[in-house]
Amino acid sequence: MAKKSYAVIGLGRFGTSVARRLHEAGQEVLGIDINEEKVEASDMYFTHAVIADSTEEKALNSVGIKNFDCVIVAIGNDIQSSILTVMLLKNLGVKNIIAKALGKRHGQVLESIGVEWIIYPERDMGERVANQLLSPNMLNYIELSKDYNIEEIILPSKMAGKNLRELNIRAKYNVSVIAIMRNGNVIVSPSPEELLQEGDILVTIGNRSDLALFASLK
Ligand code: ATP
Repeated sequence: MAKKSYAVIGLGRFGTSVARRLHEAGQEVLGIDINEEKVEASDMYFTHAVIADSTEEKALNSVGIKNFDCVIVAIGNDIQSSILTVMLLKNLGVKNIIAKALGKRHGQVLESIGVEWIIYPERDMGERVANQLLSPNMLNYIELSKDYNIEEIILPSKMAGKNLRELNIRAKYNVSVIAIMRNGNVIVSPSPEELLQEGDILVTIGNRSDLALFASLK
């Protein structure tokens, strides 16, 4: 992956997680926080971290905010600061802005000022936990649209020892298997002759209700 530069504004739990992961993946990350302690505590994770108030245009200019490929606004509780920061970023011509929203109205304001991607960590995590409880065989998922998901589903035990041709999953359950994860390896576009094993994780694509039915099989 090509190296990109990211600025993370707000080094709370959310901002720190985003920044740490990007840094671990070899990306260039600048952390920004108004609170000195947060900046000092983050030192070991980032390429750089600076103390600055992101609601001040001068502060944003002095870190060269326009030159970053992507700016993540991870301020939540202080809604006013979050909105002011995003407006300044927009005015300064920052193209790619991601912002965390605490709730619906915060999100709506961010949307109206043109934030490309709004994240609702509590809401999204809550939904994830509920989905996991409803369907324990489903390990992870990506929402492709309102109706379609890609999901990692543990192979129903009764299917172990059979191949994909016999199981005919697409015709029977309206679900397509796009990969199999086995012992840390990924078998992409598995052949119809691929023999499935207990413990396999199927990476599947389909309609959400069809996937839910498939994930409920024993
Ligand atoms: P999290 O839920 O991610 O842990 P939090 O609830 O601790 O966040 P938030 O209010 O969302 O706190 O703020 C996240 C960080 O943003 C804090 O560390 C705070 O110091 C920082 N922050 C708030 N306002 C500004 C600002 N104007 N400029 C820079 N950083 C700011």
